[in-house]
Amino acid sequence: METNLKILVVDGSRVARKLISRALTSEINAATMEITAVASAGEALELLAAIRFDLITSALLLSDMYGTELCRKVRSSNAHRFTPFVLVTGEPHERLMKEGFGAGVTDYYDKTRGFKDFVAFVHSLAARYSRLFGKVLYLEDNDIEARVTAAIMEHHGLEVVRVRSAEQALEVIDKSFDLVVLDFFLAESMSGGDFLHNLRCGHYFTREELPVLVVTGGDAPNLQAKIFHAGGNDYVTKPIVEEVFISRIRSLLLIKQQFRMLKKQSEEMQRMATVDGLTGVFNKRYLVNNIDAILEDTKHHPVWLALLDLDHFKSINDHYGHMAGDRVLQGVGRLMKGFFRETDIVTRVGGEEFVVVMTRRTPRECLAEIEALRRAIEALKPGGFNVTASIGLANNIHQRRMSLEELSFAADSAMYRAKQTGRNRICQAGAPTANANRL
Ligand code: GH3
Ligand code: MG
Ligand code: MG
Ligand code: MG
Repeated sequence: METNLKILVVDGSRVARKLISRALTSEINAATMEITAVASAGEALELLAAIRFDLITSALLLSDMYGTELCRKVRSSNAHRFTPFVLVTGEPHERLMKEGFGAGVTDYYDKTRGFKDFVAFVHSLAARYSRLFGKVLYLEDNDIEARVTAAIMEHHGLEVVRVRSAEQALEVIDKSFDLVVLDFFLAESMSGGDFLHNLRCGHYFTREELPVLVVTGGDAPNLQAKIFHAGGNDYVTKPIVEEVFISRIRSLLLIKQQFRMLKKQSEEMQRMATVDGLTGVFNKRYLVNNIDAILEDTKHHPVWLALLDLDHFKSINDHYGHMAGDRVLQGVGRLMKGFFRETDIVTRVGGEEFVVVMTRRTPRECLAEIEALRRAIEALKPGGFNVTASIGLANNIHQRRMSLEELSFAADSAMYRAKQTGRNRICQAGAPTANANRL
């Protein structure tokens, strides 16, 4: 929808042209509008033959013809058959309205309402009549019918993939499609109803994920019920009336768009629920939800758990305030986030404590990495402070069926030893205290 909206303004008065153009371009999203203003119907028709506009506004009285006549001419061209055409007049009276709608005028704008209102008016029109965007799977077995209908959809901006049978449709269908337009009566073995059923139950496309507009030939008994029961969203009858057909498609595409937005929002909420807001590393809930799968599958073994606690962190808070403390946590979190493998889990489990779960490391590799982390934190100076960490390290090498609680407990005792023996160091669970010196 973010393409430029091309608007043609036709008005004999230079002042009016200026006012309309200015009103439209002074909008915040003027960048998405491209306005061309001309004085006469002749100039307008010349431009319309060469350029496709998305909206046309015209005064009723033009030097060379009435605005209604201009509209009639515009409607007879293929490119602008459905382009919104707005007649800008003084208070429009009934006879004019009747004549205008007959000529194909989309709507009237009463210029006594002022040009500020005009902008809102144009926006709502543009939203209702704008070109469509989307990829349509079009299943129709009749070639002549298909050619005409596909041309209509393409004319309105849709990308159309046409197939002749339900079997073929099921072969090409995937998540890239926004809509299915389906002929309900097919000569081949599988009917439109069978196809729909297969789409909903076999491929698990919901009505919101992939709306289906059914095109029916006749009025067989219970046909409507059958269509909805099979999973159709809506239907139109043949012969197709272009404006009805397109407005049905428009509303189905809207359903799909809204569904996609909701899905994105819920994914974002999911992400927020598992990430620590302050540091950007995962939170404890994420660790708890994901650790069992790692511990249970031996292909991840051995599993290591490092518990890291910042040293004398409280004194930063006490001397420089909580905000300074937060900046330190952010700096350390950012460092840790980029420090490990994609398959490892880095979490802030609370306060100034972090847990890292690492998989498939030999003791040598793991110790080297954690030692590199300890040095990196020492060198980091987050928020300008000298910060160090004490780290307890545990693994499941000798006891393969350890739980998160058991690993955490072991790492916690090791970390406690690191604190007691001078801080800024790594202690391993199970290792005798004598070995707990700095590495
Ligand atoms: P030690 O070396 O023994 O670990 O000393 P410490 O001061 O780091 O340990 P202690 O557990 O006494 O202090 C942790 C402090 O972390 C206490 C608490 O106020 C602070 N804290 C907990 N969560 C946050 C937070 O989100 N932001 C900030 N700025 N401080 C926090
Ligand atoms: Mg058919
Ligand atoms: Mg602590
Ligand atoms: Mg601490």
